This record gives sequence, C-alpha cells and structure tokens, in this order.
Amino acid sequence: MTSPISYAPSLLSLMQEVSQQVFPLSTLYVVATPIGNAGDITLRAINVLAMADAVACEDTRNTTHLLARYGLSKELIPAHEHNEREVAEKLIARLQSGQRIALVSDAGTPAISDPGARIVDAVRHAGLRVMPLPGASAAVTALSASGLVNDRFYFVGFLPAKAKQRESLLATLTKTTATLVLYEAPHRITETVDALASAFEPTRQIVFARELTKLFEEVHRCPLSEARAWLAADANRQKGEYVVLLEGAAVASDHDEAEADRVLSILLAECPVRQASALAAQITGQKKNALYERALRLKTPT
Ligand code: SAM
Repeated sequence: MTSPISYAPSLLSLMQEVSQQVFPLSTLYVVATPIGNAGDITLRAINVLAMADAVACEDTRNTTHLLARYGLSKELIPAHEHNEREVAEKLIARLQSGQRIALVSDAGTPAISDPGARIVDAVRHAGLRVMPLPGASAAVTALSASGLVNDRFYFVGFLPAKAKQRESLLATLTKTTATLVLYEAPHRITETVDALASAFEPTRQIVFARELTKLFEEVHRCPLSEARAWLAADANRQKGEYVVLLEGAAVASDHDEAEADRVLSILLAECPVRQASALAAQITGQKKNALYERALRLKTPT
C-alpha cells in the first residue's frame, strides 16, 4: 500500500500552488463541502475557507465541526432558509467593504435542495462577483454509481410531503425520458417508494443510493416492483440518507413505431380500437395506452 508519507509532499506543494492562485476580494465564494466523508473536500475549498473573512452557513455547530477537521476556525454567519434575504443584505455590505465571504451548506453543494440561491441572487444583483468552488453533490455522486445508461437526468429533489401534491407532481413526470433524481429522508423512504410504484411502470429500474461516502454506503438497483421488498428486508434501510434514481420512460424507436402501426392496421381491419390495442400490446410488448392512442390516430381519417 502506498504510504501517505510518500505523496504528502506533492499534496503540500499543490496546496502551495493553489494558495498562490487569484481569489479576488469583494467576492462571494460558493463552496461545496463533503456529503459525509471529510476527505472529499477539495484543496481549493480548504484554501478559500482558510482565507475567507467569514463563512455563511446553515448550522453553525455543523460548520464549526467541519472547519475543525481542516484545522480552521472562522467567524460564522448563520444563513438558513428563514433568514436568507436579510442575511444577504449584511453579506453584501461586507463584500462591498472588500471582504471575501464563503457560503457553505450543511453538506454538498449550496443551493442544491439547500439554502443559498437567494443569497447568490442578491449578491449578483448588487453587481458583486460570485465564484463557485465545485465539489460533492449527492445527486451526481449517486448517478455516477448507478450504471443507468442515459445522458439525461431530471433533478426532482424532495417530493412534496402531502400525498395529493406528490401524486400530481409524479403524474407530470411519467413521460419524462431522463433519469429522475430524488432526494429523500429515511422516515419517508417507504412512502416515496409506494408513490413511485403507483405512478410508474413496475419494470423501470430504481436505484437506492444510501449513505454515500459513509461507512454503511449502499447502492442497490432493482426493478421498481422489487423496491418495497428490498426496503423491508433490513431494518437499517429505514435509516440514513437516500438519493433515489428512477429510470426514465422508454423512448419508442422508429422501428417500434413502424411495427406498432403495421400490427395495429391489420387488427383494426378486424376488431374495435380497444381490442386491437390490447392485442397489439400482447404482440409487440409495447404499452397498451400508447397503442390505444396510436390506434385512434390511425382510425381518424386525415
Ligand atoms: N446540497 C446537498 C447536495 O448537494 O447534494 C443536498 C442537501 S439536501 C438538504 C440533503 C439530502 O441530500 C438528503 O436528504 C439526501 O436525500 C441527500 N444526501 C445528502 N448526503 C447524502 C449521502 N451521503 N448519501 C445519500 N444521500 C445524501
């Protein structure tokens, strides 16, 4: 095993190089922090946190602890979802006086299902510079380990807590072909899986990315029809932080569409639309509802 002693000098010299880069005054630095593993900070993030005049953060206890892991102690300014607008004014005044302010959230990238966007918006409106320091985000981390082959993803974030609102939102997503990315708290994971199972086809792949970068990290992929059983199989799965990914809707290829039309045309000559689409679903393996709509279009003279 390579000993840290062998690469520590290179790391130190890289840190030295980073500290000589330009980090302008009067700038708000949006700094991503780890999502569980303190080792996942970047050298630039450490450098900015070290040189900042103050750090705006969600929970001062969390951030005190995080900074201590890197040997840092800073003035902290509470900036959470209930005071973002007021705190933005204070930060703008300090930035205008030439200070560098770092903005962090409790974990991951600020403004991604976390406070920060309003502060950034106000700072930009004031004509001040905002510099992002990239790093961890649970959504992208989960996607990278999912093996779902799709160039597109749609970030849903947290679903509404109320069942009606949740159902309406999910109904708008059933035809989305991008991978859906959801965040969920452990006490609602079962409810969320039930809602997904009611709204989407049971054959879609679901990925549970749990406790990413932490000791009990688990990335599990299965058909949506098996998701409930997987959750129930281990009481620990009701604990921990989750990203849930759901495979997007299947994209019908030109070949599929041509085949559907060919089969439907034959059947429509012999039977009514509903029966023709049910039989076509059995023959082609395509969805009955989509075939029904296709059959109606074929029946309608142009
Ligand atoms: N800003 C963060 C980011 O960039 O990912 C997200 C913050 S949001 C308040 C917290 C949610 O992110 C959790 O409820 C969970 O859904 C997800 N999350 C954060 N850390 C995670 C981890 N280590 N493993 C799995 N999901 C995580």
